[in-house]
Amino acid sequence: MRYVSTRGASPAVGFVDAVLGGLAPDGGLYVPRTWPQISPAEIAGFADKSYAEVAARVIGAFAGDEIDAADLLDMCREAYATFTHDAVVPLTQLEPGVFLAELFHGPSLAFKDVAMQILARLYDHMLSGQGRTQTILCATSGDTGGAAVEAFRGRRAVRVVALFPEGRISEVQRRFMTTATEPNIACVAVKGSFDDCQAIVKNAFQDAVLRQAVDLSGVNSINFARIAAQAVYYFTTAAALGAPGRKVSFCVPSGNFGDAFAGYVAHRMGLPIGEIVVATNANDILARTFQTGRYARGKVEPTISPAMDIQSASNFERLYFESTGREPVETARAFAAFAEAGVIDVAPQTLASMRALFRGVAVSEAQTRRTILATLNQTGELIDPHTAVAVAALSRADILTGPVVVMATAHPAKFPRDVAEASGVTPQLPRGVADLAGRPERFDRLPAEAESIKAYVRAFAGA
Ligand SMILES: *Cc1c(COP(=O)(O)O)cnc(C)c1O
Repeated sequence: MRYVSTRGASPAVGFVDAVLGGLAPDGGLYVPRTWPQISPAEIAGFADKSYAEVAARVIGAFAGDEIDAADLLDMCREAYATFTHDAVVPLTQLEPGVFLAELFHGPSLAFKDVAMQILARLYDHMLSGQGRTQTILCATSGDTGGAAVEAFRGRRAVRVVALFPEGRISEVQRRFMTTATEPNIACVAVKGSFDDCQAIVKNAFQDAVLRQAVDLSGVNSINFARIAAQAVYYFTTAAALGAPGRKVSFCVPSGNFGDAFAGYVAHRMGLPIGEIVVATNANDILARTFQTGRYARGKVEPTISPAMDIQSASNFERLYFESTGREPVETARAFAAFAEAGVIDVAPQTLASMRALFRGVAVSEAQTRRTILATLNQTGELIDPHTAVAVAALSRADILTGPVVVMATAHPAKFPRDVAEASGVTPQLPRGVADLAGRPERFDRLPAEAESIKAYVRAFAGA
């Protein structure tokens, strides 16, 4: 399987290079040259398979012959054995026809673990034998950093620098990163927003000298392996609810559009999907785009669902590329213009193509809080604020096709204060991490300046 850049100015590469490279050298994102297909009979058979087996099949479709199938299955088994639920991503019913996909049973209690646990093993596998040590630079809006630290701590061939916006993430989120004691992990509190952190990461990747000096790699949702790994639970949940015999719809709390785009990928691979509702908080760039066709950056507003406080959804570039009928020149023009002016006017035909699958709904803070309480009262389920954004969006969307799966992206105990304020109930951390608050923290503080952060990365990598 070959991977091309959405901007068309980088050479096509194989799976291993696309994963280890993260962002393409021309600033675009890698996508497979063609979408691999999974037949209806095979999708039906997923209902009887373990999560790890389905993961090996779906990710294997993207890895092609670059990773041995038996090795991949072993890696998937190991990755998903770190989850505390045997089903890995279990379904809970909220009401007739509406289900929660619980994506938060991994080591850092957020859906990022689903992709990161397998990604770390893929990295180890791919780098071993090459004698390489890579430096992973990642910007986190809260959960990516914790998931990356949990997945990569102590691994020999990889060191991780995690950038997080100071004061914009919850204490539990921060502690999942900063309490790691392994020397291959560095955490940096950046005086700025998540978008600032993300822009600094982009800048670092475009610095060819730094990139080579520290063998830079990325695990943000720009990394295609994460998207591939996230497509897996669209298949497992839909198959459990009767796919491909009936269409299933999804409602996804969205920030960087990685989770929702994975649904698009599953759809392109042959999974019948009714619709995907893209639920946003007050940072509603995606909801506005699907409604109006104008992708326009606003000011980032802090909310109680901080992992979605994003006004520049990096995976939107992949959808744009696909929806223009794969026009790399147009995609490069549009996203260069967005970097300058902060706006893309999506052409009517492109927008119509996006709307064939996606619909956007923005949810206010008050609605999110009310939904946490109402869900507890009506179902006994305590949900986190990100999940609540999606549940609230669903109640505002029109009738969807078939059963609906709402992506429950974090455990409520990651956001104890806001959940308790909304519901009157303080969520408890699961047994394995109950002592998190007592562990010592270790992190550095830097201004939101690309140069100082790049110097820090260089020093940490010993380059
Ligand atoms: C990252 C995250 C999201 C948003 O996912 P994207 O792939 O960035 O759209 C939603 N909820 C939680 C809890 C997250 O950590």
